[in-house]
Amino acid sequence: MSDKQTDNQADEESFDPVVISEQQFEKAAHLIRHLKKGLVDFLKQPKRINIINFPIELDDGTVETFQAYRVVHNRVFGPGKGGIRYHPDVTMEEVISLAKLMTWKCALVNIPFGGAKGGVVCDVKHLSERELRRITRRFTSEMSDVIGPYTDIPAPDLYTNEQTMAWIFDTYDVLKPNHNNRPVVTGKPIEMGGSLGRHEATGYGCVYAARRFLSKALIPEQQDLAGARVAIQGFGDVGAMAAKAYFRDGAKIIAISDSQGGIYCEAGLDPGDVDAFKSEHGTVVGMPDTMTITNAELLELECDILMPAALGNQIHAGNASNIKAILIVEGANNPTTPAADEVLKKRGIHVLPDIVANAGGVTVSYYEWVQNQANEQWDAEKVDEKLKSRMYAAVDTVFNRWQSYVVGEQSSGDTETVDIASQDIPDFRTIALAIAIERVTEATLLRGIWP
Ligand code: NAD
Repeated sequence: MSDKQTDNQADEESFDPVVISEQQFEKAAHLIRHLKKGLVDFLKQPKRINIINFPIELDDGTVETFQAYRVVHNRVFGPGKGGIRYHPDVTMEEVISLAKLMTWKCALVNIPFGGAKGGVVCDVKHLSERELRRITRRFTSEMSDVIGPYTDIPAPDLYTNEQTMAWIFDTYDVLKPNHNNRPVVTGKPIEMGGSLGRHEATGYGCVYAARRFLSKALIPEQQDLAGARVAIQGFGDVGAMAAKAYFRDGAKIIAISDSQGGIYCEAGLDPGDVDAFKSEHGTVVGMPDTMTITNAELLELECDILMPAALGNQIHAGNASNIKAILIVEGANNPTTPAADEVLKKRGIHVLPDIVANAGGVTVSYYEWVQNQANEQWDAEKVDEKLKSRMYAAVDTVFNRWQSYVVGEQSSGDTETVDIASQDIPDFRTIALAIAIERVTEATLLRGIWP
């Protein structure tokens, strides 16, 4: 395919997150019988949207107004749960679609939370720590009647971290004294009620999911992670922790990137060395004995596992036909567009979707919330074991449903010879979403529709 054709295809594709989540929803809803139209309408809309604008005095004395969002999509299973991202490209539409994804993710991994998400439109790379603290405190104080330990519980996401969560907790705790407020936010520093293993959870969870998926022998030549050649886009919380876990499992990490570009090394990268280099230089680019590549090149590398762990819409109609990985493990949320999903399916490339792959973050956030209720701290091994078994169970649930389509398609149900491109066998994203939608609609009806 020529570059021009590639560009044209990408130009025609909608990257609107609301459109994308609707397309994914519709496709999954087709798999569910007797879905009541009124419930579909309910699930398509967020339950609540809060938009705020607030002024902040910057270090140089100038004043800048920031816009921020908090969206709760659904609370049928429990309080809203979802990260807060700080990014210049954050839009309300993006936050809505990410809140929906949280609803499905929590339902799929059987966590008693609903879906929520938040975002502040800002560029952390141009803000000092003091400015970020002021933004976070102002955001929290204005949202103090919106968030709460039993209503809506934030967590870290793109460009927010444990420090951000500590500021949120502190601000909320000052405004709402006389309560145990620790469960208002997860992903806190350990000293403030954070859970051991939360920082590692999303990345490790992705690797546990990949390990379990490979063990199903759908890719006969790669039934475990040993020797798998892995390329990871993004070296933040998710990408860096996943790199560590892949490396521990004997995989060879041949490429890693961050916002400034990527590095490639056929002999394999040691994530500890990459981490040390990035801490010193602020980027992975320029690490000795590596070749510099672009983020676009990283996605198209010859490899076994490709893990997008940065932004959304990275794999799209314009590059899906150039992807050479045999398995895509979605560390990031929404990294693959619906058009790309179609292309990848036709080409026999498996996608372990975000709703399954990166559910380890919310899983350990839930464990943190449980520990906070009892003022307990579980040891790291206990957290990790519970995370692993929940990730395995999530993969099994989706795989078993997928297999029922395979059995319907061919009498032997032999997964090793299955043609995954068949129209009658849905992809894993669609199946995972359908399971989650079923669970949420069943719970809605069980609760009884008010009054
Ligand atoms: P982070 O801020 O810790 O790291 C983001 C990484 O992406 C950084 O290495 C950054 O340099 C890189 N990046 C930014 N722009 C890029 C670009 N244009 N091209 C390539 N790389 C770029 O964020 P994170 O917490 O690791 O989150 C990464 C993704 O994982 C997001 O999509 C997030 O929604 C998703 N996610 C995170 C969690 C969690 O627990 N942190 C849970 C589930 C999903």
